[in-house]
Amino acid sequence: MLDKILIANRGEIALRILRASKELGIKTVAVHSTADKELKHVLLADESVCIGPAPSAKSYLNIPELIAAAEVTGASAIHPGYGFLSENADFAEQVESSGFIFIGPKPDTIRLMGDKVSAINAMKAAGVPCVPGSDGPLGNDIELNKKIAKNIGYPVIIKASGGGGGRGMRIVRNEKDLEQSIKMTKMEAKTAFNNDMVYMEKFLENPRHIEIQVLSDGQGHAVYLGERDCSMQRRHQKVLEEAPAVGITGKMRQFIGERCVNACIEIGYRGAGTFEFLFENDQFYFIEMNTRIQVEHPVTEMITGVDLIREQIRIASGFPLSIKQKDIHIKGHAIECRINAEDAKTFMPSPGKITRFHAPGGFGIRWESHIYAGYTVPPHYDSMIGKLIAYGETREIAIARMKNALSELVIDGIKTNIDLHFAILEDKNFQKGGTNIHYLEKKLGIYE
Ligand code: ADP
Repeated sequence: MLDKILIANRGEIALRILRASKELGIKTVAVHSTADKELKHVLLADESVCIGPAPSAKSYLNIPELIAAAEVTGASAIHPGYGFLSENADFAEQVESSGFIFIGPKPDTIRLMGDKVSAINAMKAAGVPCVPGSDGPLGNDIELNKKIAKNIGYPVIIKASGGGGGRGMRIVRNEKDLEQSIKMTKMEAKTAFNNDMVYMEKFLENPRHIEIQVLSDGQGHAVYLGERDCSMQRRHQKVLEEAPAVGITGKMRQFIGERCVNACIEIGYRGAGTFEFLFENDQFYFIEMNTRIQVEHPVTEMITGVDLIREQIRIASGFPLSIKQKDIHIKGHAIECRINAEDAKTFMPSPGKITRFHAPGGFGIRWESHIYAGYTVPPHYDSMIGKLIAYGETREIAIARMKNALSELVIDGIKTNIDLHFAILEDKNFQKGGTNIHYLEKKLGIYE
């Protein structure tokens, strides 16, 4: 087992990694910016190192500082969490070439999956269903591009191969707009991602976002841990997630899960990962793979009983997977609400000092957060300050427990989106289940 882990992240996920490490008897090193001295995991870690000023570019994204911190503290491995450098292949490479273990996939796998055209090609080869599309990058021959679009059928979407964060995409509804749209997307992709490669996909009008969690040891063993429904989104940002997804039968789960497992083995995947799909008319269409732990991982943990961070650490330590597919059983239902420091109506960030705080509790309630009374939410980072997870034997019980827990949660001094979550939980269509990725924006009246 690894003996000392440097946590290259902040906030709730850093605390989550710290807790998992401590449970395994592993020493921890927290790194933090000057704005984050008071973070809960920094106060709880065995050692801590200040890696730079508040802006992420100078601290949490500063590769030489992170590696130096690992060197001076004698850490054996680095856990990148999510966001920041977690899907940066160059970082993973430098961590490994400096003699540390990167808790995640091999750098080449991150690179392969970071480029959407190469990711889709690898998935197709492994038998994972993808969105009908251009089978590779688009060239400059407009007549050929028109033909490709016609074959796929309008509407189509032009996407940047190097894109991320919901940027670098353009919907095209008819042939007359095609040439201009390809040109524009290429130009934007060049500026934003320094890579003007674009490709074309069928635009699905009303899909759900359903993703499959996998664990793979890079030694020929992989398992799937069911799906999560993350369709409740605003501006491509997930707001509330749940597992399992309403309407997904055991047969459908097995069909898609086995294909994901197969793909993991084909590409020699190592660690925890997520295959993201759009789901429409009972069909799954792969859109991308996240080669890291995700914000919404707890809902999977609640319904399977598997600690995903512990498994990441075990895999990075070189152990083969300890769980077999036949040992993974889905039981009950879990919902996660992302609690953000922002106005529930305008979504404007609301950093500042938390004057009063009360955590919710009770059977089936889990609170993943670094905040406490007196803590100041800095303005420099993501506005998510915690995740409230409710588990129940049934979805109805999980919803009822979540409502109770939200009503117990007190965060004073700053604004939060708690009221938005109440509105979702009380929505009749949400209660029925199976709403698509546009539902929340339509409800909020901001869908374009
Ligand atoms: P990113 O890496 O920027 O998150 P994705 O490929 O995951 O890009 O797509 C982000 C979002 O864009 C999806 O969750 C979905 O809402 C929308 N989208 C992407 N591809 C399609 C498609 N073919 N049809 C409909 N919507 C799409």
